[in-house]
Amino acid sequence: GDIADSVARGVESIGDTVSETLFEPTIRLGVTGLSRAGKTVFITSLVANLMDRGRMPQLAGAGAIQTAYLQPQPDDTVPRFDYETHLAALTGATPHWPDSTRAVSELRLSLRVQPSGLLGGLSGPRTVHLDIVDYPGEWLLDLGLMDKSYTQWAEETLSRAQGRDLAQGFLQQAAGTDVNARLDEPVAQALSATFRSYLQEAREAGFSDCTPGRFLLPGDLEGSPALTFAPLPRPEAPARGSLWREMERRYEAYKRRVVKPFFRDHFARIDRQVVLVDALGAIHAGPQAVEDLRGAMADILGAFRPGRNAFLTKLLLGKRVERILFAATKADHLHHAQHPQLTAIMEALLRDARDRADFAGAKTQAMSIAALRATVEETRDHNGQTLDCVRGTLLEGGKQAAFYPGKLPRDPSRILNPARDGAEDWLGADYQIMRFAPAVLDLPPGDGPPHIRLDRAAQFLIGDRL
Ligand code: GDP
Repeated sequence: GDIADSVARGVESIGDTVSETLFEPTIRLGVTGLSRAGKTVFITSLVANLMDRGRMPQLAGAGAIQTAYLQPQPDDTVPRFDYETHLAALTGATPHWPDSTRAVSELRLSLRVQPSGLLGGLSGPRTVHLDIVDYPGEWLLDLGLMDKSYTQWAEETLSRAQGRDLAQGFLQQAAGTDVNARLDEPVAQALSATFRSYLQEAREAGFSDCTPGRFLLPGDLEGSPALTFAPLPRPEAPARGSLWREMERRYEAYKRRVVKPFFRDHFARIDRQVVLVDALGAIHAGPQAVEDLRGAMADILGAFRPGRNAFLTKLLLGKRVERILFAATKADHLHHAQHPQLTAIMEALLRDARDRADFAGAKTQAMSIAALRATVEETRDHNGQTLDCVRGTLLEGGKQAAFYPGKLPRDPSRILNPARDGAEDWLGADYQIMRFAPAVLDLPPGDGPPHIRLDRAAQFLIGDRL
């Protein structure tokens, strides 16, 4: 019929390489997490460790991979993930952390796999493409805006801000503004700028809820009207041409022109997802930040729930993400004796997020990992007690030092549901100064950079497809 004909013609008309890849399986792996969660380091180390698989014993299919190599990515208009520069930063003579994710980027790693077993021996090797898509978690949280009007979003954002010292400057500025007066661009810009600084400070203080995401990571939209608004209380009768009306209009433009295309072009095509979480950072920042992380995890998981909102359902056309991994990063800040506690916290957060988001469908798992291990373990005597420490090179000053970051409870609920009066302080002052530089590496041939459980993460994410 017509369709078969046009498919045949389509296959004829494209070059060899493209028609070949049409029939080769592709896994689209999304990597997300809030800023500084560790996306760039994760992708760089994952790719390096998939190319040199000596440190990937828990990736069951690793033995079947004959070679892994980078290829041009399928999407010509998406920036390429700058793998070579990031790897050079991490593995050079004076290693340093690479530049963090600021926007969407993509990288294709192709794996030549020799299937094992009776049938595998008969067929030749096949190629599996792993398309890695890196995107800011802040952008993902914007999904929540799609089914919120400006009035609703502003109300919620303002009421959350009431309780935060950081927001008082913005709240005062908003209170001193006649929102029903005619739009005056400098007034709109000043409000938006103050609101944005508040969001940035809140993020730095460990809060995870920070919509609109592009206020933190604008991509190429910096300064555009769609990014120049702020939450304002609705006046009794909003006047035409008023500041409030214009803010409402810009908020809607942000949803339509910024949020929607991102979900359509990137999010809707993902098969597997890893969400990186700086759980240690939130625990160190205190109970409010943990509570906020908990909300953010439910929101993130909610974004993957089939049928959660009409907008997304229409985009996805029944396609769904098959596996989602929530990984606490930077576990090399803790001695391995404490890793089970960190994992238990992640598992409790994930259970809670599943409940809150009423989630079903994809396979989920929680883990604690370090994509690039920057420390070694050391047990020290301290006043007759042994302390499980980690040692690394300090980012500032370049000196080696060993730290005891504090202790995590065995029962995660002590962190997740702290007593209302007298919440305990987990991860003490030492954690604050534990800013390590990546270690100088002397990698034996065949080994990728050192990590903690990156192979397990890879097994969960792609192992079944190798
Ligand atoms: P992104 O914003 O999500 O891309 O975050 P990055 O990958 O740039 O990581 C942010 C920072 O977290 C890095 O500069 C490092 O300081 C730290 N970091 C990330 N991964 C690790 C890790 O595995 N171990 C340690 N010790 N630090 C890490």
